[in-house]
Amino acid sequence: MKQMQKQIKLAKRPVGVPTIADFDFSKAPIKAPADDELLIRAVYISVDPYLRGRMQDTKSYVAPFKLDEVITSGMIGQVVESKSDRFSKGDVIIGNLGWKEYVVASEKAVQKIDPDLAPVTAHLSIIGMTGLTAYFGLLDIGQPKEGETVVVSGAAGAVGSTVGQIAKIKGTRVVGIAGTKAKCDYLLNELGFDAAINYKEEDVPSALETACPNGIDVYYDNVGGEISDAVFPLLNKFARIPVCGSISSYNNVKPDMGPRVQSALIKTSALMQGFTLGDYSERLQEGRTALATWLNEGRLKYEETITEGFDHILDAFLDLFKGANLGKQLVKVADFEK
Ligand code: NAP
Repeated sequence: MKQMQKQIKLAKRPVGVPTIADFDFSKAPIKAPADDELLIRAVYISVDPYLRGRMQDTKSYVAPFKLDEVITSGMIGQVVESKSDRFSKGDVIIGNLGWKEYVVASEKAVQKIDPDLAPVTAHLSIIGMTGLTAYFGLLDIGQPKEGETVVVSGAAGAVGSTVGQIAKIKGTRVVGIAGTKAKCDYLLNELGFDAAINYKEEDVPSALETACPNGIDVYYDNVGGEISDAVFPLLNKFARIPVCGSISSYNNVKPDMGPRVQSALIKTSALMQGFTLGDYSERLQEGRTALATWLNEGRLKYEETITEGFDHILDAFLDLFKGANLGKQLVKVADFEK
């Protein structure tokens, strides 16, 4: 067993696009667990766009990271040593844990993964945080009805690709917006979207007009900015807009200004509602069961982009802002031990 381990802390609050210099890569001793604690080997670490928000010292739905503190995110790991009656050596767990090779966590901070429900990494993607975000935002706020048109931005990412497929299951016409031809081909040919728009190559307002001849009933917004500006003129009466993310502005230094949305909302009586998955904390099992059922029935597909190695966690995080990922971006930092 090693004595020392790698860890990653936030060293400075990034201004604009984060750089490696904003982080502190260091080594620390591996601690022993106390009573009711576990020593966990990190195996898969989730990198997510919302972590960018936690790097700023601003009020949000989740507290900012402190400077000189280890970054935390979703993690799947394996118990190396247990001082808890509820866990044994070898158990595979999930939790929101620090970017360290070995983490000591309270037994209350982690859950065992059910290996029969889906492959382990799916617990960080399609039946985990991103799949659940797609499920509740689309079905609870978007309320898609058969025959309606659903547009989703960030469509080839973890949340967006799930949103589009659930919208297809609900019998709607689905239009995805993504940043490369390969991603658009994936949406059309693999996931069964009805149309896909490459926002880096096409004129989004006119491409949307062509792709949505009956207007837009649901706009699942993952990106904000100019892509979302192009949607508002095409909204139908009583359209619904679940506002899930705004990744186009996460690295902005100045506020992002665009056309005001109020008159579009008034003219169409549309509902625009922000949300976080935390709003649905009482209903997670419902969502997980539905997603796992569709997955096992072959009605949902998912991709994961898996970067290898602890030293590449930040590269994988920054890749999210370059659109390098298809589906969920994860980092594999170790193998499971038998
Ligand atoms: P993701 O979509 O898998 O990855 C991010 C994607 O965003 C990239 O692949 C890239 O795809 C796109 N992107 C990056 N910069 C962009 C820009 N300037 N303009 C347009 N698109 C850009 O990430 P995810 O985890 O599924 O998250 C998607 C969104 O949902 C994010 O905004 C995230 O913050 C939000 N989210 C919210 C909640 C919640 O509880 N509300 C939970 C999870 C995620 P392209 O190649 O298409 O550009």
